[in-house]
Amino acid sequence: MDTLLASKDHKVCVICDQAKVRGIHLYTSFICTECEKELISTDTSNPKYKYYLTKLKKVTTPQILS
Ligand SMILES: [Zn+2]
Repeated sequence: MDTLLASKDHKVCVICDQAKVRGIHLYTSFICTECEKELISTDTSNPKYKYYLTKLKKVTTPQILS
């Protein structure tokens, strides 16, 4: 199981941490098609949505490199 080994065709999804081929780019990160669908279909009142937001926070809040 070397799912974290990203080749040039595979990118590691920020939500499920799996290397996937299909997905969308959000800022500098990648979200796979499956997680994108999950995110869209998850109600904002669902606790799972908060989990996604926590994951996405890493994406939407750029880290200041010092
Ligand atoms: Zn994913």
